[in-house]
Amino acid sequence: MKKGRLIKGIGGFYYVYVDGLTYECKARGIFRKRKITPCIGDYVEIEVIDEDKKLGVIEEILDRKNEMIRPAVSNIDQAIIVFSIVRPDINTMLLDRFTVLAESKDLEIVICINKADLIDNDTSIEEIKKIYSNTGYRIISTSTKVESELEDILKLLDNKTSVFAGPSGVGKSSILKILTNRELETGDISRKTGRGKHTTRHAELIRINDEGWVVDTPGFSNLDLNEIDEKELSEFFPEFNEYAEDCRFISCIHVNEPDCAVKDAIEKGKISISRYENYKLFLKEIKESRRY
Ligand code: GDP
Ligand code: ZN
Repeated sequence: MKKGRLIKGIGGFYYVYVDGLTYECKARGIFRKRKITPCIGDYVEIEVIDEDKKLGVIEEILDRKNEMIRPAVSNIDQAIIVFSIVRPDINTMLLDRFTVLAESKDLEIVICINKADLIDNDTSIEEIKKIYSNTGYRIISTSTKVESELEDILKLLDNKTSVFAGPSGVGKSSILKILTNRELETGDISRKTGRGKHTTRHAELIRINDEGWVVDTPGFSNLDLNEIDEKELSEFFPEFNEYAEDCRFISCIHVNEPDCAVKDAIEKGKISISRYENYKLFLKEIKESRRY
């Protein structure tokens, strides 16, 4: 048996990457009985049927570290959340929605401010850096119009499986196209070419550098926070955590409770008000969605 990574699926065939070679595989029927479907990103064990023709059978699917639904991809390490300052204007409420969703999948987070060529001074990027300064998120600025500007991203993709996410029009497909050196059809582009929104298109993993993989379709197309538990939400704001342990109540959700160390940190300017406002907004949204 060989251990590999499922990188692409087409019409019942699965393409499994093993040490530089790709095997076309079928999945064993047993998975259907166990109600598991192989998912792009899965680490699998294959039995090689024909080494010359590179044919095999998937015998085992290893436990998944995490899973995303749209696109369906497993074992993701990192989310590169792409925004622009202008065209379209930055929206930190939307940005925090992406960070919360990425946190809920336990992903490392990089905030990528693209279209750097459109801003004539750095103050707006500095403001973003300030808001996220104690989150631990790496913040980079890029431009697809200037060569070499994508080198920072390239370095961050090594040895990881990354998914790009962000609103429409910020340059995700342009970045992916340059990084992967190929024409990609993303969900956003299918809108541009007028193809139906529900056209099924499966994601694919594309190898970058030596040991990096990127999902060729932007992630988190659904920004509902409904799956998130309201008691869990504050954990997805990493800069709250170091203070939260000093709240009087262990179950403190940092809104109306007395002796709340998080609220105290906000008053002292240690946590950004913008982040806290978005936290409260999401909390309200989650609570309201529970009522139905
Ligand atoms: P997506 O919807 O996030 O995939 O965005 P696209 O990659 O389709 O880009 C949307 C528009 O922004 C296109 O017209 C791109 O040419 C343009 N664009 C992408 N990256 C940049 C950039 O770094 N600078 C500028 N000025 N425009 C960009
Ligand atoms: Zn609290």
